[in-house]
Amino acid sequence: MRVLILAPIGRDARLLAGTLDALKIEAAIAPAPEALLSMLPQGIGAAIIAEEALTPRHIEELARWVASQPPWSDTPFIVLTSAGRPTPESHRRAQDLQALGNLTLIERPARPETIQSAVRTALRARMRQYEIRSRQEALLRANADLEQFAHSASHDLREPLRSIGIYSELLSRNFATSLDPKGGEFLGLIQSAAKRMDALLSDLLAYAHVSSFAAETLEQVHAIGPLKAALENLGGAIRESGAQIALSEMPTVRMHESHLSQVFQNLIGNAIKYRQEDDPVRIDLSASRAEGYWIFSIADNGIGIPPAHKETIFGIFKRLHTNGKYPGNGMGLAICQRIVERYGGRIWVESEPGQGSKFSFTIPE
Ligand code: ADP
Repeated sequence: MRVLILAPIGRDARLLAGTLDALKIEAAIAPAPEALLSMLPQGIGAAIIAEEALTPRHIEELARWVASQPPWSDTPFIVLTSAGRPTPESHRRAQDLQALGNLTLIERPARPETIQSAVRTALRARMRQYEIRSRQEALLRANADLEQFAHSASHDLREPLRSIGIYSELLSRNFATSLDPKGGEFLGLIQSAAKRMDALLSDLLAYAHVSSFAAETLEQVHAIGPLKAALENLGGAIRESGAQIALSEMPTVRMHESHLSQVFQNLIGNAIKYRQEDDPVRIDLSASRAEGYWIFSIADNGIGIPPAHKETIFGIFKRLHTNGKYPGNGMGLAICQRIVERYGGRIWVESEPGQGSKFSFTIPE
């Protein structure tokens, strides 16, 4: 929360430091703009600068530093301007100074109370920024812990599950004749429960694995590749349901192919799974562009979703049906949401019960 002071005339800087001292605010005097620039990265509460200390080059350098701050940071600058009538020159300087972002201009001669009040306001806002930073850091840590937990839990739970799978398989292969029909039925139930749990754990692992990455380092991929991969994986369900799938032209996006393919697969898989009993399945896939994003939509003519559940269905393990009618574990949409949000997009559904659903997601261009 230290305040840096840059005022070329020694007495000015000392006067300003004295003004702050009265408020018990720690001040440091930068003898030259270069010193100010080198002190900035150490972290400051605010800077007070006498206008005449800055040449256009210094303003440019400061503006570059301002732009390089992390998203939570918006360092306050208080610039003391010269008194006198506005001139084209003073007007241009004031405009250049806007590049400092969080800027307060105070005309000299200024009363000490004016400066004190501006500094107090600046430090108060700065304190809020620090609070946001620590909350963000705590959130990131909690998120990383959760990812780690989901990863270890799903990994470790797979070991005993594998044993259950292997031994029930051996039991059914080598001892089938020793079991009466009831015993055979129970064994079948154990095997299908083990399969369901295996699918659930691999979905949990997939969820935990969608971790952070720098989207701008990604190559552009044509969406048709991941879409075809998804359709291929769903080949059995598409043939069995006789689903008619209409595709419009697809764009290129900055995404990992496997992520986009997973989103398509989950959404198209659901469009087939949640179909109406009597209607042939019809799915329309389209992509359009709006305000810096690509919007992908997957519309079906299935059973639809009641309005009260349009948001809850994206939660982990959230489902609206029992396993009997529609098998599943409630992870599909949660994985889609996590992937899409990691790329800075969002996902939502428009739907009426009995009238089909249209899932849409956005990806920045
Ligand atoms: P799962 O399909 O395994 O239950 P999801 O997370 O993919 O899990 O979906 C959550 C719930 O959202 C589903 O149980 C279903 O009730 C509803 N849902 C998802 N997609 C559709 C759809 N296309 N039409 C109707 N309901 C859907």
